[in-house]
Amino acid sequence: MADYQYDVLIIGAGPGGYVAAIRAAQLGLKVACADGRETLGGTCLNVGCIPSKALLHGSEKFAEAVDGTFAKYGIKTGPVTLDLAAMQQQKLDSVKQLTGGIEFLFKKNKVTWLKGYASFVDAHTVSVNGETVTARDVVIATGSSVTPLPGVTVDNDAGVVVDSTGALALERVPEHLVVIGGGVIGLELGSVWRRLGAKVTVVEFLDQLLPGMDGDVRKEAAKIFKKQGMEIRLSTKVTGVAVKGKTATLTLEPSAGGTVETLSADCVLVAIGRRPFVDGLGLEKIGLELNKRGQIETGHDFRTSVPGVWAIGDVIPGPMLAHKAEDEGVAVAEFIAGQTGIVNHNVIPGVVYTFPEIAGVGLTEEAAREKGEVKVSKFPMLANSRAKTNHEPDGFVKVIADAKTERVLGVWCIASVAGSMIAEAALALEFGATAEDIAYTSHAHPTHAEALKEAAMGIGGKPIHI
Ligand code: FAD
Ligand code: NAD
Repeated sequence: MADYQYDVLIIGAGPGGYVAAIRAAQLGLKVACADGRETLGGTCLNVGCIPSKALLHGSEKFAEAVDGTFAKYGIKTGPVTLDLAAMQQQKLDSVKQLTGGIEFLFKKNKVTWLKGYASFVDAHTVSVNGETVTARDVVIATGSSVTPLPGVTVDNDAGVVVDSTGALALERVPEHLVVIGGGVIGLELGSVWRRLGAKVTVVEFLDQLLPGMDGDVRKEAAKIFKKQGMEIRLSTKVTGVAVKGKTATLTLEPSAGGTVETLSADCVLVAIGRRPFVDGLGLEKIGLELNKRGQIETGHDFRTSVPGVWAIGDVIPGPMLAHKAEDEGVAVAEFIAGQTGIVNHNVIPGVVYTFPEIAGVGLTEEAAREKGEVKVSKFPMLANSRAKTNHEPDGFVKVIADAKTERVLGVWCIASVAGSMIAEAALALEFGATAEDIAYTSHAHPTHAEALKEAAMGIGGKPIHI
C-alpha cells in the first residue's frame, strides 16, 4: 500500500473544509487543510455570513435609534450620529475572533494548516506553494465566487461598482445604491445601507424577489421592503453600467424587452448569484469534469468520479449555504473514516437576515401542490402576543401539510426571529412530524414560536388566537 503524508487532505478551509478537517481529526485521521487566505473560515467567516451579520446587527441598532422605534418604548435620544468606521471595526473584530477560533480548533485537533493554494498533480498528490503533499483521500471544498455580470466591471477598491465583498467594506454611506439582483445578498446588504441612510433601488430580473422561496413569502417580502423605503424594480434587467469618476450610469430595460432607461448612482452592487470556484485547482490533471453549471458532481457519499477524491459545499450541487457545507463536511469525514455520514438535503433551512427575517424549510406551497393535495395554514405575527408587544407586526408563519396524513411538508416564516423559529420546523420535518405533533407540543408563552404552533393548529382547523 502506498505511503502517504496524510490520511486526508482538504482543499479549502470554509465551513465545509474546516469542519471536515476537524471531524476527520476527531475520528483519528492525520489531516491537513490547504487554504491560501490570510485567515481560516473561507467565504463565510471572512467575507460572507459573519461580516454581513455584524453590519446587519449594527445597522439595525442604528435604525432603531433614528427611526422612532426607541421612541415607541418611551426612550428619548438626543441627536444620533453614525460612526461608520467604528461600525466597520466591530465587524472586523467579530471576523478576527471567529477566524482565530478556527485556527485554535485546528491546533487543538492537530490539523495541519497548509497556507497556500493547492493544485492537483495527481489524485493523491497536490502542490501547495511549490511543495508536494500526498494524501490517501483528498476533499475538494473550494467554495464559490461571485457570478460576474457580462459587460460590468467590479472594482471593490474604487467603491463605485462593487460585489458583496466591496459592499461589506464601504467607507462611506452611498447616496444612491443600486443593487442588481433581488436575492439574498442584494436584500441583506441593501438593508444595511438603507438603514444607514442610503437611497436603495433593487433591480430584479424576475417578477418577484427571492427566487426559490415560497410565493406568498416573496410577495410579502416585496411589500415589507417597499414599506422600509427600498425602491423595487421587478421584471427589469440591467444591460450596462458606465462609470465616470464617482458616478455610475446604469442602462435598464424590461426583462421581456422594451423601452430603455437610465439610472445614476454613486454605488452599484452586483449580486446576481455565485458560482463554484475551481480556478487553478488543476482538475484536468485528475480527469475530473464539471457539469453544465460548473459544479462537481458527487454521489450521496460525496465521492467524485475519481477514486480517492471527494467534494462538498458550494462547489457541488445544492443550496450555497454555510450549514449545508458544514453538514457535508461532517458526513464526508465520516464516510472517509469508514462510517456512514448523513445529510438530509430535503431539510436544509434557508434564512434571509433582514428585518423581519425570512426563513423556510422543506417544500414551497407551489412545489408541494405539484406533488399532490395539500392543506395550508397561515398565522399572522400580528396575532402573536410577543410580536405584538415588541411592536413587530409584520409577517406570518405558513405550514404546508399533506392533505391526507397532515404530515408537514414545508414551513415558511416572516418574523423578527424567523431564523431561530425555523429550527423547530426543521426538526419537525426531520422527524416526519404531522401538524398535530407541533400543535400538541407545549410552546412557551409569550414567544414568537407560538405562531408556528397556531399555524400548525390551523391545519386541523382549530387555531385559538384568530
Ligand atoms: P467557502 O466558504 O467559499 O470556502 C472555500 C475556501 O477555499 C476559501 O477560503 C478559498 O480561499 C479556498 N480555496 C479555493 N480554492 C483553493 C485552492 N485551490 N487551494 C486552497 N484553498 C482554496 N450562508 C449561510 O448559510 N448563511 C449566511 O448568512 C450567509 N451569508 C452570506 C453572505 C455573503 C455576503 C456571502 C458571499 C455568502 C453568504 N453565505 C451564507 C454563503 C456561505 O458563505 C457559503 O455557502 C459557504 O461559505 C460555503 O462554504 P464552502 O466551505 O463550500 O466554501
Ligand atoms: P441569489 O441567487 O440569491 O440572487 C440573485 C438574484 O439576481 C436572483 O433573484 C436573480 O433572478 C437576479 N438576477 C440574475 N441576473 C440578473 C440581472 N442581469 N439583472 C437583475 N437581476 C438578476 O444570489 P445572491 O444574492 O448573489 O447570493 C449568492 C448565494 O449566496 C446564494 O446562493 C445564497 O444562498 C448565498 N447567501 C446566503 C445568505 C443567507 O443564507 N442568509 C446570505 C447571502 C448569500
